[in-house]
Amino acid sequence: MSVHGLKFRRPLGAALAAFGAALLLAPAVHAADKPLQVVLIDVEGGAATLFVTPQGRALLVDAGWPAGKGGPPPAAGQAPPPSSAERIVAAAAKLGVRKIDYLVVSHYHLDHVGGVPELLSRIPVGTVIDHGDNRETSAPGQTGGPADLYAGYQAAIAGHPRRVVKAGDTLALDGLSLTFVAGDRAVIAKALPGAGGATPGCAATPDKDQIGGEENPRALGFVVSFGRARILDLADVTWNVEKALVCPVDRLGHVDLLLVSHHGSALSSSPPLIAATAPRVALVANGARKGGDAEVLDTLRTAPSAPAVWQLHFATRSPEANRPAPYIANLDGGVDAGYPLTAQVFGDGAMTVANGRTGDVERYPAR
Ligand SMILES: [Zn+2]
Repeated sequence: MSVHGLKFRRPLGAALAAFGAALLLAPAVHAADKPLQVVLIDVEGGAATLFVTPQGRALLVDAGWPAGKGGPPPAAGQAPPPSSAERIVAAAAKLGVRKIDYLVVSHYHLDHVGGVPELLSRIPVGTVIDHGDNRETSAPGQTGGPADLYAGYQAAIAGHPRRVVKAGDTLALDGLSLTFVAGDRAVIAKALPGAGGATPGCAATPDKDQIGGEENPRALGFVVSFGRARILDLADVTWNVEKALVCPVDRLGHVDLLLVSHHGSALSSSPPLIAATAPRVALVANGARKGGDAEVLDTLRTAPSAPAVWQLHFATRSPEANRPAPYIANLDGGVDAGYPLTAQVFGDGAMTVANGRTGDVERYPAR
């Protein structure tokens, strides 16, 4: 019995081992050629950016607004448009994602954290990452401000693993490596690998008054490395904190893809930031009536690295500064179809950007 058994077991064992090795190898070899997907989900002037690895794991930065907020109200008799959380779940499902492995909450403003409670009720979420306690005090008698939102957020994430990160902390997810470069008003002390040069334009760029609330400069920002490709997402980090990242010495280095800060508001995106990071592609998550400011679009248009610039919406407040229609996902200032911008980022630095409205794809070769 043992002889037969051995004879039988050996080939079967070898075959199983080979099959197992093939199972292990096949996805790895395949994944190396597959892109990281970065989706700017249209949450109507809020923020929700989905990163999906070649292996299908997902990291979401912010969850947009609570239901009923953001965007224009529906016309009489029309159903309300989908909530931010519904849009996020739909965008994830389109990429085969049924779980958010990491949810990064950049800061506690309504357009970023407001959609978190509903999102958690609609899709499994793993670890939640944030900058720590809310820092913005409410005006006397104010309700619905960051202090209230933070309390609601804390209640909603109860039971989820929570990680508070500081500038300099890192996170690995499949082939992605995130380095948090800003958080709670602090920035990384040392230049990232490849950075460290002097940034042009620092002396000529005065500081800007801090308006818009204390949580903006406290927002979490990070650099993603994926193979040789680099992506910068500073959420709503403001002008002066950005300057601390690049002036007088650049601590960030060049990036391939820039997710333009703060919905393209002129409270952020100083010329030195854009000069130091030299993006090749820049995506602006503006709303129809929020962000996409002419000053920022002009800074990008005249940047030394001449980035290709895409907008999530036509910016109605500065019509003359908009990109041509093929580079804008949503043209209508009213209730729109919520088209996304989707970037595919390859490990060699090559990228594509797809306009969810037209289906057109533009390709950018490796650097
Ligand atoms: Zn915002």
